Amino acid sequence: MDLDFWWLLVIPVAFALGWMTSRYDLKTLLSENANLPRSYFRGLNFLLNEQHDKAIDAFIEVAKLDPETIELHFALGNLFRRRGETDRAIRVHQNLLSRADLPAAERDHALYELGQDFLKAGLLDRAEETFLALPSGEYSLGAQRALLTIYEIEKDWPKSISTAERIEKMGAPSRHMEIAHFHCELAQEALQRKHPDGARGELKLALSSNPDNVRATILAGDAEAADGNLEGAIANWKRVESQNEVYLPLVAEKLMKAYGALDRKEEGVELLIDYATRYPSNDLLDVAYKHVQELRGLDAAHALARKQMQSAPNLAGMTRLLEAQAATAEEPRRGELELMRNLVKQRTKNLPRYTCQACGFRARLFYWQCPGCSGWETYAPRRVEPITSPA
Ligand SMILES: [Zn+2]
Repeated sequence: MDLDFWWLLVIPVAFALGWMTSRYDLKTLLSENANLPRSYFRGLNFLLNEQHDKAIDAFIEVAKLDPETIELHFALGNLFRRRGETDRAIRVHQNLLSRADLPAAERDHALYELGQDFLKAGLLDRAEETFLALPSGEYSLGAQRALLTIYEIEKDWPKSISTAERIEKMGAPSRHMEIAHFHCELAQEALQRKHPDGARGELKLALSSNPDNVRATILAGDAEAADGNLEGAIANWKRVESQNEVYLPLVAEKLMKAYGALDRKEEGVELLIDYATRYPSNDLLDVAYKHVQELRGLDAAHALARKQMQSAPNLAGMTRLLEAQAATAEEPRRGELELMRNLVKQRTKNLPRYTCQACGFRARLFYWQCPGCSGWETYAPRRVEPITSPA
């Protein structure tokens, strides 16, 4: 009991010590800040009362009286930008820039922040102009990175390429992966303009920037196909396997179409079965299953689905298997199989989606650049089925 009593005394003593310390801190703080201008406190007051415009005016007053408060402006500007009040952020940074006595380093900093304000506000032209005014100095690398973002948004691929190369030269980590995609974008545009030769030139540059770029290989096949050279197209698309086999689902349908046009469907189906067997994936199986059924009948497709289920069981495969069995079964077994299929399908209610590995954005189409976070190659070329929990 005695021991418990002493412990209880410790609490008020600690409280008293804490109170004394806080009083001391407050006193020190007040004496240190006694020579801050009145406008500073007025500004703080306006800020706390959500009167932002008046707060800015008060802080501008502080800045006039005391040049040491530049940091305060940066803090305010960033605060407004983060809150989405870009017009206020722009005003703060423009006010800083209008000061004739602003040191050069701070001028660069203010320009950089102003560029970020314009970018956030979606005023790309003005953002570009501002960042271009920072060709050297501490903020030049950041400015080039921001310029790259702007050019990517504007889909200005030649400027994206030159900016990415400039960033590499400034000693930043390699941008070869992005540069290859910029060339692929240009190749794709050339293909849309029915200019396969132009596309080939860009694809060569893409692969010299990043030999692992699968997209360039796929597009090289597209360029051949556009020229009517289906053999060449097939050869390119088959090369995807040696580059990275996970991307094979992206060429499966293209391959079948080319084999079909060459009147060699059987060869195409054989290739797809081989791919689907060696690299089990729902997306590959989907294409293979469809063409096997078309060419060799339901039993052959069924056998393929069964084989796949044995090597890589999953719910989509199970649905397909039950569907195939139901199609050939007699009543009442047919009804039972359909019931099972519906139950499994309910668990995979949503359609399978591609998922960005960087930001989690889900999409029905495959993207080389994520529409959510703008990252390149952040999607695995594999659709994932979201599992819904049982009700
Ligand atoms: Zn993303």
